[in-house]
Amino acid sequence: MNHPIQSPVPSEAIATAVDHALGLGLLMTRPDGRLTHAPFTLRPTPFPRDAFREAQRLARDFNTLMARVAADNGFLDAIGTLVARHDPFTAELFRIHRTVRAEGPRQTAALGLFRSDYLIHHPAGATRPALRQVEINAIASSFGALGSRVSALHRFLLADRGLSPSDLPPNPALDRLAAGLAAAARYYGRPGSVVCFLIQPGERNRFDQRLLEYRLGRDHGIRTVRLGLRDIAAGASLKGPRRRLVLDADQREIGLVYFRAGYTPDDYPGPDEWEGRLRIERSAAIKCPDIATHLSGMKKVQQTLAMPATAPDSESTLARFLPDAFQRRRVAACFADFHSLDDPGIANRVRAAPDEFVLKPQREGGGNNLYDQEMMHTLAQLTSDQRNAWVLMQRIHPPRARNVLIRDGVAKDEAETIAELGIFSVHFRDADRTLIDESAGHLLRTKPAGHAEGGVAAGFSVLDSPILVMNREPGGD
Ligand code: ADP
Ligand code: MG
Repeated sequence: MNHPIQSPVPSEAIATAVDHALGLGLLMTRPDGRLTHAPFTLRPTPFPRDAFREAQRLARDFNTLMARVAADNGFLDAIGTLVARHDPFTAELFRIHRTVRAEGPRQTAALGLFRSDYLIHHPAGATRPALRQVEINAIASSFGALGSRVSALHRFLLADRGLSPSDLPPNPALDRLAAGLAAAARYYGRPGSVVCFLIQPGERNRFDQRLLEYRLGRDHGIRTVRLGLRDIAAGASLKGPRRRLVLDADQREIGLVYFRAGYTPDDYPGPDEWEGRLRIERSAAIKCPDIATHLSGMKKVQQTLAMPATAPDSESTLARFLPDAFQRRRVAACFADFHSLDDPGIANRVRAAPDEFVLKPQREGGGNNLYDQEMMHTLAQLTSDQRNAWVLMQRIHPPRARNVLIRDGVAKDEAETIAELGIFSVHFRDADRTLIDESAGHLLRTKPAGHAEGGVAAGFSVLDSPILVMNREPGGD
């Protein structure tokens, strides 16, 4: 795409934007502990309207898919067997899953706050830009609250441009995610019970969580506590045959545990943290997510669902969960290609075009994927057994835009950028009953073109919002 290079942005415009971001509570902690605004783009980034609407439509399809995967122990166990052999972290998560099942769960309700991430795929010659799913986040899906704030910031900065909501789509992520948490907390139904935000020690993105807490208090009259896995192990007990999760200090009961931690090996430096996780999973508290839903978000699950079926479509793995052919086709249309690492020709294909592949381990949280030289090096070293713990995915090369990235009060010169869309969704179920199933706002994360990885917290991306545009022809960039 051709965008005119704009003259440097006046410093007054930057100061106005930064002040407004701070005023909205668009806050983050710097590595040195001081507060600053979360990094953001000066302007919303153009995003194809049809693809945006399609991503919103897919939210409920993925809710359904994730819920059905989470309920299928046989399917998850088969994946666990593949991955866990060479991955002690994932093995331990599966062990907890089995322990809870063997003992009999004390809670059948589960809340999912998902974020499905997409890049635009628009190869030269294609008539329309298409969505490709990068991954779906089933645990600690972040930036819903701050994403809503960036939408508000951009709306403020463009207030005199006469844009309509169909250009700058409303972003109800903060409201809808808080409403989902509130509904689960109320469903638990015990007066005086609290919601536990399960957090990482030294969390730098705490305002994305705090804004949800404030909403729960203000709009729903719900109390929250912030605890780490270690705090649970040291200061919360299971009470009675129902195994109610109760804080030792003041006997308050935890009705809902909202995980914003627990998805990376770093969150489990020792046995206390694992004990904390196990205690939560065994308890009567509703979890967001429960261990089965957490496991359903594994990249290996994504690969397994997306791998081309050797059998007819109706007998594919995806068909096991989405028997409706119409729905199944809609979902499969956004899947990127995945490649079997057991294919003897794959190493040569990767070597011939490394730019077309990304190699991912079974990890969350950014900064773990391998590209180019590193990918080829690792591929060459993996034993056939170890390969099961990795997925090899088509690398998507989205069209480039231009924007000004602002970090810690400083605007970089306008740069070529790549945007990744996240669509939030809420799914609340009790056994087979669906209680909430909705699309729940969005997030755009923008990074300088040329950076392979994303991630705002990891320091690669900045927060952005979409301005919806008609589809454009590819090429030109
Ligand atoms: P994580 O669980 O660490 O967030 P992701 O699969 O989301 O893992 O990958 C991290 C980032 O790497 C993404 O946000 C995206 O920017 C980039 N990325 C991941 N997969 C692809 C892909 N197939 N093509 C292009 N970029 C990708
Ligand atoms: Mg990701």
